[in-house]
This record gives sequence, structure tokens and C-alpha cells, in this order.
Amino acid sequence: MNDLEKTARELLHSRGVTLNDIAELVLFLQKPYIKALEKATCIENIEAVIAKREVQNAIITGIQLDMLAEEKKLLEPLQSILEKDEGLYGVDEIMALSIVNVYGSIGFTNYGYIDKIKPGILKELNSHDGIHVHTFLDDIVGAIAAAAASRLAHAHPDQSEITK
Ligand code: MG
Repeated sequence: MNDLEKTARELLHSRGVTLNDIAELVLFLQKPYIKALEKATCIENIEAVIAKREVQNAIITGIQLDMLAEEKKLLEPLQSILEKDEGLYGVDEIMALSIVNVYGSIGFTNYGYIDKIKPGILKELNSHDGIHVHTFLDDIVGAIAAAAASRLAHAHPDQSEITK
């Protein structure tokens, strides 16, 4: 594992996101299609996604911006936009697409779906407690789960309706 991947993993962990949390999201997305899906398989796929450089870059960039916003170190109007997690900002979602992109078009469908329903850790990250800023992190986590689910779908084309 290179330094970039190590840093990306440490940052996720330091922001309260575990591989297990992301695996729950992958299960949520893929369990209807792959009946015998186990959490360990989800984690393997998540690790393959996190091993990609473009994913590591999105993680370190997004989390850094969230942290600077928490410390109130950004220039206005970006500071207020990120603090309020303004819906029309949209750069957080665009950054997430650089992750989703890695496994093709199924990833976009998965990401859109999970971003709308916000299960598990995504709901927690979206709680807007007035202290933490997770404007980028929620999209990054959703995108990693969506990409891992897409990778799984490609590996089980016979069992995945969404690939048809
Ligand atoms: Mg966001």
C-alpha cells in the first residue's frame, strides 16, 4: 500500500467512517441482486475501489475541504456554502462522480439511488449537527459504495438484473 492510499484510509477513519460502514451500504445496494452476498466480499470490493489513485485523490481533497470548513479557514463565500452544505453547490457531487466513473455507468445509477435514500452512515453524515462539516464526505462515501457495488455487479453478471 502506498503513502497516498494509507493517508486516504486514515482520513476516512479519522472522520468516523469504517470499511464496515461502507460495506453496509454495498449490501444495501447489491443484496437484492446477489442473494448469497457476504460482508467480507463487499469489503474486498471496497478495498479494490480505494486502491485506485483517482479515488484516493477525491478522498484526500474532499475531506481536507470539510476539515478546513470546520476550522473556519476558507474564504467566503465558500466557507458559508460548505458549512451550510448548500444544495445548489454541486461540486461535492461532481467530485464523487470521479469515483463512480471508475466502474462505468451502473455506478451512476447506484450513486444516484443511494444519495437519495441515504441509508446507514450516509444519514449520520448528513445530520448537520452544527459542529461537523461532511459536505464532501457523504458524497465520497456514497460514491465508494456505489463503485464497489458496480464492481460486484460486473463480477456477477448472471445474478445482477441491473446489468441487463
Ligand atoms: Mg454533499
